[in-house]
Amino acid sequence: MTYPADESNKDSSNSVLKNEQLLTIIERVTCALRTLSAGNHTLLHATDEQELLHDMCQVVVEKGGYRIASVAYAEHDQDKSLRWMASIGVDKAFLEALHYTWSDTKMGRSAAATAIRTGEPCVGRNILTDPVYTTPAYAPLRENAIKFGYAAVTAFPLRVNKQVLGALVMGAIEPDAFDEEEVKLLSELADDLAYGISNLRMRAEHQAAEATIVRLAYYDPLTELPNRTLMLEHLQNAIQTAKHHHHALAVLHLNVIRLRGINQILGYRSGDQLLQQLAQRLMQTLKESEFLARVGEGEFALLLPRGGADCAIQAAQRLANALHDSVEVAGLMVDPRVSIGIALYPDHATEADTLLRRANAATNDVCPARGGYALYTGGKEQECTRRISLMGDFRQAIEQNELLLYCQPKVDIASQHVCGAEALVRWQHPVHGMLSTIEFIKLAENAGLITPLTYWMLDAVFSQSYAWHEMGIAQALSVNLSAHDLYDPMLVDRIQGLFSTWNVDPELIQFELTESMLMEEPSVALETLTKLKNLGTRLFIDDFGTGYSSLSYLQKLPVDSIKIDQSFVMPMAANNDSAVIVRSTIELGHNLDLEVVAEGVNSQAVWDLLATLECDVAQGYWVSMPMPVEQFSSWESEWRRLTKG
Ligand code: C2E
Ligand code: MG
Ligand code: MG
Repeated sequence: MTYPADESNKDSSNSVLKNEQLLTIIERVTCALRTLSAGNHTLLHATDEQELLHDMCQVVVEKGGYRIASVAYAEHDQDKSLRWMASIGVDKAFLEALHYTWSDTKMGRSAAATAIRTGEPCVGRNILTDPVYTTPAYAPLRENAIKFGYAAVTAFPLRVNKQVLGALVMGAIEPDAFDEEEVKLLSELADDLAYGISNLRMRAEHQAAEATIVRLAYYDPLTELPNRTLMLEHLQNAIQTAKHHHHALAVLHLNVIRLRGINQILGYRSGDQLLQQLAQRLMQTLKESEFLARVGEGEFALLLPRGGADCAIQAAQRLANALHDSVEVAGLMVDPRVSIGIALYPDHATEADTLLRRANAATNDVCPARGGYALYTGGKEQECTRRISLMGDFRQAIEQNELLLYCQPKVDIASQHVCGAEALVRWQHPVHGMLSTIEFIKLAENAGLITPLTYWMLDAVFSQSYAWHEMGIAQALSVNLSAHDLYDPMLVDRIQGLFSTWNVDPELIQFELTESMLMEEPSVALETLTKLKNLGTRLFIDDFGTGYSSLSYLQKLPVDSIKIDQSFVMPMAANNDSAVIVRSTIELGHNLDLEVVAEGVNSQAVWDLLATLECDVAQGYWVSMPMPVEQFSSWESEWRRLTKG
């Protein structure tokens, strides 16, 4: 069997051709596989998006043997511009300057633009023959392709989270490059790259979220200074170092004096502005190694990791100077004065928390005339701690009915008849014993415990009055009210309720209000006094002479008696000035038709003088010390026996 020569020739030349084609295909697939594998390696090591894009382009050119590789991102601006992120083989700036877009216009016909728009690879465009590239708009690109020797380009969409982010563009020397198998593999590479981008972005988002969490936990968002938590951590570390190297360190606590007023009058935004400006000024004065934080609303703290009292005082002066000039807030010039308290390690404390607290406590001792700073001194804090613990105990004492009702008799001077008693509270503390009434009343006022105390007293006085009534004693009991009571909208109703409950004669319940508290808010005082008076009770102005009330004001008040303060009465036998004051007060009271009671009658001499001055009633140790209310009836019998009343 013979074959026609030309046929067999044809056959063999066909098979050579096929073999060559096969070889080319294999070569291309191998190239693509090499690129894919190197691309994966690049992905695994990538830490930064920009770096990844650059490295991927490099892999495509260097390992894959392609002529060019670029990545363009699709901008979502008005022009839908292409942002060239990385490019190897063609200059990035050159591509950028061409101003191609991915919009559906003649400037948006490139392979990259098509891949972005369609979301599919745009394969094998021959730059030299493709009609798109022969238009004038693409002439520079054609020239570039000729210059750098690439003919076919393919662009693969980069899909991140189902959105096309951009395109990976590759250019090959051969005009017929990018066959099916090769494109399949390179598409995989583009998908891997897109995955790598999304992965890096996710990682960056996580890092940013973590950084935000740290910032929120350790920094003050208003001033961007470290907060108290971070200050305490730094302080604790600084203390460890100081301990190790046997040196001192100091903490300065700065309290912004005006902040509260500015917040209240100009508003919180102005207060914030003040704090921001102060923070900036303080930052500018900082020396290396010093650590500044905002540790409270209007509070900053400065840590000097090394140095004793001298060093701390110098720093305090430096800070005070920095804050000397006024700050403009809401169009007003505000004096940004601060009090600076200083506490030292190891002298004042060895724990971070205590040291900071003591620096803060020292701000209470600051006197502007002495430089506006103060070093911590002990003692006071113990006193403070005692007070705080006493407040807690006092609340409990009221709730558990552990207070005692004492009373101190009042006697009519002319007749020497007992005409009532003042109800006085006593507190026998289980550890500290009998406490000074003045001290714990002040404490109760500061701790907002006056209302419960007054209610306790009212209950005790009404039930005592009822008990006396049962025993046949008809003596009035007077209750002391505090300034705070005047503003209690429930007070009068409560008293009215007690009258109904105990059915006590209104004459037997009296109220004492100090002169100074009546002057604080005269209109409120007048309203409450009028309501009490309408209940039929008798009203006294207590501690008269200490509150500078005007005569005309006194005349308007529905009061029945004034009690001359004991500070005038007690010395009157020895001191003529006091005697003159007492005499004129008695005259004044009588002129206003008021009964006059003298408090602090502690001797016969005082009693006799008061009798001469025609004072109406006496109360004081000479008549009787305050006593537990249960002892009153036997005391009264004894008094009657002695005075033969
Ligand atoms: P006050 O109302 O002026 O009561 C008179 C105070 O003078 C009482 O002190 C009494 O013991 C004291 N005193 C009376 N005569 C003499 C004297 O001859 N010599 C001296 N040295 N002192 C005398 P106390 O009981 O310590 O009460 C002090 C203040 O505490 C009272 O002054 C009153 O303002 C307040 N207070 C007492 N109990 C209550 C209460 O239940 N509620 C309120 N809000 N305040 C009360
Ligand atoms: Mg009183
Ligand atoms: Mg008094």
